[in-house]
Amino acid sequence: MILPRYSLGLGDRFGRQGRAQLAAVVAARDLGVDLVPVWNKSHREHVITRTQPAAVRAEADAAVAELGWTGSYFVDADHVTMETVDPFIAVCDYFTLDVADFVGRPASAAQVEAFVARYGSFATEGKIPGMDRKLGGADIAAIAGRYLLAARQAAAIYRHIASVKGAGNFITEVSMDEADSPQTPVELFFILAALAEERVPLQAIAPRFVGRFNKGIDYRGDLTRFEEHFRACLAVLAFAVRELELPPNLKLSVHSGSDKFSLYAPMARILREHRAGVHLKTAGTTWLEEVRGLALAGGEALRLVQEIYARAYQRIEELRAPYAAVLDVDRSRLPHPDAVKRWSGEEYAAALHHDEGAAAYNPHFRQLLHVAFKVAAELGPVYLQALDTHADLIGPLVTENLLERHIKPLFLQA
Ligand SMILES: [Zn+2]
Repeated sequence: MILPRYSLGLGDRFGRQGRAQLAAVVAARDLGVDLVPVWNKSHREHVITRTQPAAVRAEADAAVAELGWTGSYFVDADHVTMETVDPFIAVCDYFTLDVADFVGRPASAAQVEAFVARYGSFATEGKIPGMDRKLGGADIAAIAGRYLLAARQAAAIYRHIASVKGAGNFITEVSMDEADSPQTPVELFFILAALAEERVPLQAIAPRFVGRFNKGIDYRGDLTRFEEHFRACLAVLAFAVRELELPPNLKLSVHSGSDKFSLYAPMARILREHRAGVHLKTAGTTWLEEVRGLALAGGEALRLVQEIYARAYQRIEELRAPYAAVLDVDRSRLPHPDAVKRWSGEEYAAALHHDEGAAAYNPHFRQLLHVAFKVAAELGPVYLQALDTHADLIGPLVTENLLERHIKPLFLQA
């Protein structure tokens, strides 16, 4: 199985918007961009929404059948570990192996020494793109010591999946975006070397980039530094494909945390320069369009999303705990739930809608709602029924959001 040049990771927490999401990919195709849809849902999201991996497969297959999509598509076991991968194996054909927990666990001195003997010359001779200085053996040993076990763990998960599905029958991505710190280009090269050595046929890798990728809001950080980092990562991937035995279509996967609008133009330009592909992973943005649609529907639906906000406001610590590293919610900037209960649907939607130029937009409100899908999940059939009742209003919002705000600025410009 081959992951084509451009692919879009679609998250759909409640499994109702697959068709609306695919409609955006169909529209992109009509505009001349071949984009492969990949439906992703992590173990963490399945736990929170109390769903099983088979539900995502069913949703993807149904959307594809309904719209007559004849292109390829995948179902991604997102951020799986050895402990969580098993229920995904039968129904997924794309696996994002998360080894962030193994980054920094020290490898043995003998393992490090052997690795440095095999690959160290790439750094001591200054051959790796993006190096600002030549590195010595001790620097390389430190990098190997930090990442070697993570790469070997990824290989162990890969082999476990391959033993069931057969090699070549699934796409492999390795993610390190939830590690504590960004990887330098040299670190990325050595991670790739360790994966190549273990014969992991990875087609996408998700580094942690510089800057903050908070949930549901735009990038926070120095754009120039991001551009440098992104460019260097692309150069390292191309170099690693030439020098190591890795699949020629290996590409970067950007775990966006939704809505990194200010990165799309520079990413598109750099991808064009490097003739490189990319996988853009989104997850929460569709759920937030559901909330916006329910607000705009008014009446009961508006009361429902006002209630979701009120409960989220009471449980802010609990909701943000799993996402602490990627949320900046300032309590003092959140509207009080009593005020929100007096809002019209338009006011609610305007506070939520990600438009940095709009006075009504409140990124704290948006980030809290981004992680409040747990509250909606607890409402169970009440929430799902509201989605079904207002499907005709919500679907076009989901499609338009993906097409106009994500696909066009990134893939149409790349
Ligand atoms: Zn991620």
